[in-house]
Amino acid sequence: MERAFDVVVAGAGPVGLAFAASLAGAGLRIALVDPQAEAALADPADDGREIALTDRSVAMLAASGAWAKIPAGQVAPLRRMQVLNGPSDYAMQLGHGGTGGGMLGRFVPNHWLRRSLHAVVRDLPGVAVLPGLSVAAVQAQRRGTVATLSDGQALTAALVVAADTRRSRLRRQQGIGAALHDYRQRMLVCPVAHPLPHGETATAWFEYGQTLVTLPLNGGRSSAVLTVGEADAAALLQMDDAGFGRELTRRYRGRLGAMRPVGGRHAVPVVTAYAARFVGRRFALLGDAAVGMHPTTAHGFNFGMLGQHALARELRGALAAGRNVADPAVLARYEAAHRAETRLFFAGAEALMRLYAAGDNMPARLLRNGALRLGNLPLLRQALAARMRDPDKNLIGPAGRPGA
Ligand SMILES: Cc1cc2nc3c(=O)[nH]c(=O)nc-3n(C[C@H](O)[C@H](O)[C@H](O)COP(=O)(O)OP(=O)(O)OC[C@H]3O[C@@H](n4cnc5c(N)ncnc54)[C@H](O)[C@@H]3O)c2cc1C
Repeated sequence: MERAFDVVVAGAGPVGLAFAASLAGAGLRIALVDPQAEAALADPADDGREIALTDRSVAMLAASGAWAKIPAGQVAPLRRMQVLNGPSDYAMQLGHGGTGGGMLGRFVPNHWLRRSLHAVVRDLPGVAVLPGLSVAAVQAQRRGTVATLSDGQALTAALVVAADTRRSRLRRQQGIGAALHDYRQRMLVCPVAHPLPHGETATAWFEYGQTLVTLPLNGGRSSAVLTVGEADAAALLQMDDAGFGRELTRRYRGRLGAMRPVGGRHAVPVVTAYAARFVGRRFALLGDAAVGMHPTTAHGFNFGMLGQHALARELRGALAAGRNVADPAVLARYEAAHRAETRLFFAGAEALMRLYAAGDNMPARLLRNGALRLGNLPLLRQALAARMRDPDKNLIGPAGRPGA
């Protein structure tokens, strides 16, 4: 038996959920399908990811009602960033001096983003969350699209949206290519306590052979983020807590004092993706499935939020004009907007990340130093800081506060 919806979303990750929330009140029947169990969607496990949110993302979360569900103690301010290269003390600096100034962004644990968005979406009229199931196949037909689920049931919809990770199976199945790059590295994350203050500053050290990042958290803690080779990551995961703490302190050269792990370690492969097209016939890609940024750029979710906002805006526009939500012109406008927003930044970030992931031969060293000094030029610094803050007068209230 077929069940009929207007929109089927494959993937109840943070972007798929945010998209469903953005369509609240539009009168659409939406199905959100995800292989994770109901309990894992409602109360996701801590995956160690601290997501740096731009003001625009915070404003969108606030508009959906999700921001209010995140406890204040889970939000940590980011006021400054510094980037160092190799053994040199020269740093590219972004952000404000002193404390109490403006913020570059806010850190929120990924599991809290997912939990709060799920809590919003679960209660929305017209939205059916279908846990424990994946979308196995999508077939566009003359009158609509059929999404076949892993249990064999068929959902019909005007539009299927795939937000099913950077290695999107549905993207591949629709014949949409993607520039995929496997860095053959792992990003290992772990919360740590340390005696020296982090000054609400995120620091990235592009060492030769590894990238070491600290993200400032509340309560004298930081998130240690190490991008290392696969064998190195496996060895770090094997260590006991005391040995791992000593190893972190050594690698970070004691810059924050002796580091002590205060949570679990998680490691993910570093793979980036940029889809050749974001739309197909009655089909659209969203989130990492469209643009899978390098995690060091801290922009994957932020771009995902921009994308879902753009697609929801176009769908609402189509409804207001009495058009089909899967009208090719409607989808083309989403594609154009999201490509314009992401293409240059993705290409620039890829060039930099590959340069910093490259070995330590002399040309690479010189280029890396040059890139850092270029980033310190006043105009570029302002542009980078603005990119982090991402101000948008339509979404941020007068005091720069979400929902103000
Ligand atoms: C260590 C780390 C740190 C990061 N830090 C930041 C940061 O600071 N700032 C930032 O903006 N971004 C950051 N990111 C990126 C951010 O986490 C991702 O961009 C974001 O999770 C993408 O969300 P998504 O919903 O598109 O995909 P995902 O979170 O990958 O969710 C996809 C969902 O699709 C489901 N799924 C898969 N296949 C199917 C199918 N066939 N049918 C149905 N469902 C399916 C999965 O179960 C999953 O729930 C970081 C990433 C990492 C790894």
